[in-house]
Amino acid sequence: MLDGNRKKKTYSKKIKRLRRGIVITVVAACLIPTCICIILSVRYDRLNAKYKQSTADLEWYRQRYGSELSILSAMQPDEDAAGAAGSDLGAETGGFEQDYADVDTSGAQNPEDIEGTRYVYLTFDDGPSIYTEEILDILKENDVKATFFVCGKPDAKYVNAYKRIVEEGHTLGMHSYSHKYSDIYASLDSFKEDFDKLRIFLYETTGVWAKYYRFPGGSSNAVSKVDIKELENFLEGTDATFYDWNISAKDDKAGNTKESIYANIVDNVPKFKHCIVLMHDAADKRSTVDALPDIIRDIKAMDDTVIVPITDNTLPVQHIK
Ligand SMILES: [Zn+2]
Repeated sequence: MLDGNRKKKTYSKKIKRLRRGIVITVVAACLIPTCICIILSVRYDRLNAKYKQSTADLEWYRQRYGSELSILSAMQPDEDAAGAAGSDLGAETGGFEQDYADVDTSGAQNPEDIEGTRYVYLTFDDGPSIYTEEILDILKENDVKATFFVCGKPDAKYVNAYKRIVEEGHTLGMHSYSHKYSDIYASLDSFKEDFDKLRIFLYETTGVWAKYYRFPGGSSNAVSKVDIKELENFLEGTDATFYDWNISAKDDKAGNTKESIYANIVDNVPKFKHCIVLMHDAADKRSTVDALPDIIRDIKAMDDTVIVPITDNTLPVQHIK
């Protein structure tokens, strides 16, 4: 009898263990795929949001630059213009390169310079974009301040980027509200209108009354129907200063790579005492973001060289004098 009872107990224990095993297996079989589904759907949502953001950004660029290229080719059918029209997305640096040899862009000397110190100003045009936050992260990790010449993008998704630029100690500069050359440079009035719109928009978004300006295409652009001198006078009257550049990443040129962007900047820094470096913060400029950490590291490693944001003490590099 005792043996029988013991056997029964052992069986019931075994059955209980078996049941527990089955329950655990069933629960695990349900839970694991559910968890995987949840993780995948979250990732899908994130990627989808990013994809939508990129598409919207590219659309923004197409709207502004697509027509610009046709305007440029229509206005300048000669060979010189091919340089301007041929540069990718809006001929940002086209005019500059033609004029570069004739213009003294060796870099203005800051009266407060410490003898022997080289100042490098990293500037980013055209933002905010899907990459602004990442650029800001890189700058933060490297404890570097830069200058952002931004456009007017009222979309809620960019509010944080504008604010972070200011909160994290970078300089917020202006680069036109619309970045649409055909509108901005059509007349002095249209330039003024665009300028005021951006300044007010930035003030309402960040509380900063911006005072540094970069002309779309630079002051040496060949697109403006208004004499750049007139636009300069207007800027002066509004207490704004414009900054061109003496080093270009050439990240708006077709075929640029992380390596070419790095070389265009780092190889040229030793040539100037004041380096105003042109880069772009735009949805189609991934290579610029990829090159940035190495650029910062290697500029910082140069003797007597500092990376600083544009301030009132920065005398501008200007292509047109
Ligand atoms: Zn631009």
